[in-house]
Amino acid sequence: MNKKQYDVIVCGGGVSGVLAAIGAAREGAKVLILEQTNSLGGSWTSGLVAWIIDAQNKKEYIVSEIAESLKSKGKGRFARSGCFIYEPEAMKILLDKMCTEEKIDIRFNTFVCGSQKEGGRIVAAETVSKSGKESFSGKVFIDATGDGDFCFLSGAEYEKGNEEGLMQPMSMFAIVSGLDAGELEAYDNSREFSGDISPKTRLYEEIKRAGIECSQQKPALFYLFNDCFLLTANHIYGVSGTNSEDLTKAAVSARSEIGSIVDKLKNLGGIWKNIHLVSTAPSVGVREGRRIKGEYTVTLEDIYASKQFEDSICDVCFGIDVHALTKDSKTGYAGYGDGKKHNYQIPLRAAKCYGFDNLYMAGRCISGDFAAHASYRVSGDAAVIGENVGKAAARQAKI
Ligand SMILES: Cc1cc2nc3c(=O)[nH]c(=O)nc-3n(C[C@H](O)[C@H](O)[C@H](O)COP(=O)(O)OP(=O)(O)OC[C@H]3O[C@@H](n4cnc5c(N)ncnc54)[C@H](O)[C@@H]3O)c2cc1C
Repeated sequence: MNKKQYDVIVCGGGVSGVLAAIGAAREGAKVLILEQTNSLGGSWTSGLVAWIIDAQNKKEYIVSEIAESLKSKGKGRFARSGCFIYEPEAMKILLDKMCTEEKIDIRFNTFVCGSQKEGGRIVAAETVSKSGKESFSGKVFIDATGDGDFCFLSGAEYEKGNEEGLMQPMSMFAIVSGLDAGELEAYDNSREFSGDISPKTRLYEEIKRAGIECSQQKPALFYLFNDCFLLTANHIYGVSGTNSEDLTKAAVSARSEIGSIVDKLKNLGGIWKNIHLVSTAPSVGVREGRRIKGEYTVTLEDIYASKQFEDSICDVCFGIDVHALTKDSKTGYAGYGDGKKHNYQIPLRAAKCYGFDNLYMAGRCISGDFAAHASYRVSGDAAVIGENVGKAAARQAKI
């Protein structure tokens, strides 16, 4: 057992985890983050999903502080529909700095692989890393692993997939260079657009012209900086983020498809003649994993009813975004929801693990049904859920 005692231990230093840690530290808690990669930010950085949706109504939260800080350094900007786009490497550096300033302990390259319990209380998180097997004791624990690994390993109840057990496809983002922002205006999904053909449809047709039937029917390019764009152009179907073999298969197939798309676009010449693949995301993007059972479960009906809660921890303003569940979709989406944005709240109880006294979830693994998850999972909301769960955990640790 590591000798240090923590008030709050955050498993997973991704979007919600890093915000939970900062939120808890600002409430005076001694915090530890356990993260399997070597950077903070998760989907924002190792996933290269550098496009924060539902960030526009979050002025009083740390996610806005992050956006304003990146913007002031010329490393990010607010773009279409108030979404925030930024340089992923700048985000990594900023999150390291913020956590260092808050005196948060961080362990990178450390995989959370178990828990120690005394009845309904968690007493320690178990990890494996280059240092071997270790355990870290704390008063309150937050599972921000995206897939609910820590709650699962502690024996919590959970659900996965829709009523047929189908899950949203994975996708791998990439950064490409050698493109001229002016020439690619009609393909740029970070701009407001009008007209009959969306940038996504235009890009799909162009990739088809290059000789590839793209697995994601709505691929997208987002202008980043200089001659660089973010590219998302693949769907990997029928794979699970909680299966290591599937994660490997998904990464290999996604990287191969991205490589082929870039090579074939280059062969088209014209506006594509200098395109280069700079980087594929270090982590394949997993849209959904386990949804851990909480003391409350957010449902699609709650969203349609614009449900408000006394213990609200996040105001969401987004629609139901379920990508195609099988490869035969013609539209890229699975047809859930009514296509509209909805305003609703997430209660703290949906982030409190059912059956445990001192265990919370943050981010996409909180308690919700399949369709509701497809809404609140976007990173502007995952960030605010994380921050407020961190604060609640810190307050509980003081009792
Ligand atoms: C392909 C894709 C496209 C998306 N597009 C958008 C978009 O355009 N805009 C938007 O706002 N949202 C988008 N999202 C949704 C959003 O990015 C995520 O739902 C959100 O970031 C989830 O936050 P999180 O904190 O739950 O998980 P993450 O940010 O994924 O963080 C989880 C962290 O836990 C770590 N971890 C996992 N397991 C362990 C373990 N056992 N031990 C230690 N560490 C562990 C991971 O390495 C990671 O750092 C997209 C998601 C995907 C996958």
